[in-house]
Amino acid sequence: MKEKEGRGAAGDGLPDIDKRLQEDKRLKEMVSPLLEWYDSHARILPWRGSPSPYAVWISEIMLQQTRVEAVKPYFDRWMKAFPTLSSLADASEAEVLKLWEGLGYYSRVRNIHKTAKLVAEKFGGSLPSSFEALRNLPGIGEYTAGSVGSIAFQLPVPCVDGNVLRVTARLTADPADIGAAATKKHITEQIRAIIPEERPGDFNQAMMELGATVCLPNGLPRCGECPVAFLCEARRLDRIVEFPVKSGKPPRKIEKKTVLILLNENGTAAAFRKRPENGLLAGLWEFPNFDGELSDGKIRQILDASGLKISSLVILKRVKHVFTHIEWDMTGYLAVVKGRNSGQASAVMETDSSCNNALDFQWIDIKLMFEKLALPAAFKSYYQILKGVAV
Ligand code: SF4
Repeated sequence: MKEKEGRGAAGDGLPDIDKRLQEDKRLKEMVSPLLEWYDSHARILPWRGSPSPYAVWISEIMLQQTRVEAVKPYFDRWMKAFPTLSSLADASEAEVLKLWEGLGYYSRVRNIHKTAKLVAEKFGGSLPSSFEALRNLPGIGEYTAGSVGSIAFQLPVPCVDGNVLRVTARLTADPADIGAAATKKHITEQIRAIIPEERPGDFNQAMMELGATVCLPNGLPRCGECPVAFLCEARRLDRIVEFPVKSGKPPRKIEKKTVLILLNENGTAAAFRKRPENGLLAGLWEFPNFDGELSDGKIRQILDASGLKISSLVILKRVKHVFTHIEWDMTGYLAVVKGRNSGQASAVMETDSSCNNALDFQWIDIKLMFEKLALPAAFKSYYQILKGVAV
């Protein structure tokens, strides 16, 4: 219903059926010039060429986290450490998390690890080659199964990301909201209908490449460089800035936090705790912290009550960290303390169980911590402070 109304509203008065036929024709005509353009303009990337299905999969998940340029060093490091899926399956969770450090969404890397173990056990260490079998693996959704299936196994299946949605919406001047599931479904079917059997992986990559390098977001497409400009309906109508239509996201929830950098007196160990195994930053290590913005008086009171003797306490700059749906607005304190075995820093132990109480922490050797633990980027500014004061 929504799609029908939307397409009618953007059109030039043609009945919907004619409009749809025109859209399909336009998309079909795009295939050949797009592939030609891709052959001469595709960026040379470490995961392109003749990559293994495993390399395609890892790069695709990393690319869901961040920009291509930022992914390159992560991808190189990863493939050096785990050159095969079996080597990844044999690695410890701590090693895997550490290599992902800074990419965020750690649940994705846990799923990668889980899938590697499962594939090693059930599929002899090679990713399965059917869309359905890929789709059934932990952390592999329709998009990832489509990209791995088409790029690594030449399956004629679509993979529709934000780039593909934007390019298609502009090419067809589609007024439907690209954030809506119905629009994504419709565009996925449009792409499925035109995907060339002989080069499905290249076609999918070409669509994404066009979106990433030419048909740019935020009203800034480089139409002069576009190989399919002659087919673009938004351009013909001179309404490029109106497409794609995207409804605004709800505002992020802001949560105030108070973070404590607790340092032992000789400056060799800091207090860390492991987050609960579920939820945001599940199972990762963090500084002790409390909900809300606490005064230094309150912090003194809390530390005192927990058996820690404060030698010094300073307030730190405020830090913000933005997650997808929430934002942390953090107040920090650096305290040098005695007590609670502060002289006995432990080596990092993977088996340590998580805790819910902010002051159920362990003293961790600071050097070991930076070497071995995956540290969430949310506390990045505080790690810098810790590095500056640690011995
Ligand atoms: Fe995008 Fe411009 Fe090409 Fe249309 S002509 S697909 S708006 S880059």
